[in-house]
Amino acid sequence: MLQFKLVLLGDSSVGKSSIVNRFVKDSFDEFRESTIGAAFLSQTVTIKDSDANGNEAQEVTVKFEIWDTAGQERYKSLAPMYYRNANAALVVYDITQADSLEKARSWVQELKNKVDDDSLVIYLVGNKIDLATDDDKDKREVEENVAKTYAEENGLLFSEVSAKNGQGIQQVFRSIAEKLYDIR
Ligand code: GDP
Repeated sequence: MLQFKLVLLGDSSVGKSSIVNRFVKDSFDEFRESTIGAAFLSQTVTIKDSDANGNEAQEVTVKFEIWDTAGQERYKSLAPMYYRNANAALVVYDITQADSLEKARSWVQELKNKVDDDSLVIYLVGNKIDLATDDDKDKREVEENVAKTYAEENGLLFSEVSAKNGQGIQQVFRSIAEKLYDIR
């Protein structure tokens, strides 16, 4: 089985643990305790291989080893240990906290500066879209287009998700699996 190492980075409380929890256990816990240091989980995804003509061939199972790092400043020095050998990095921000996008940008910069491997797949994720509504309760602070343009300019994959209701979560990991499978 193909195995890939994935690391989550981002400010604290943007929802990194909740995203992993949604992906691995398909559940959401409003009152979960924050991650100390880093947590390890694994999960598989099945993707479809396609031949040169784009015809679907066999199914391929990809296993992710997921390292969920703590966002607190005091654990920041531990991060390189986790991203150094990673195949993919999920850099998470909270669409209701503009500051968290700035933090995400600095993580992307750090990855680009410190990781030699050009094949590292970086995926920028805007979490908590369930809090963006069409009425006066809309808590969005980061416009989707702003993050999307930044991602495009920096060669990152990008999407908005909600760990709370599950929107877009599976697709993030599927896209990463497909990308890593293509460039393996
Ligand atoms: P981490 O510190 O980045 O791992 O963040 P957590 O996963 O611990 O989540 C921080 C807080 O945000 C918790 O209170 C979660 O319940 C909440 N949260 C996480 N994801 C979502 C989401 O998609 N929507 C909403 N509304 N809240 C979320």
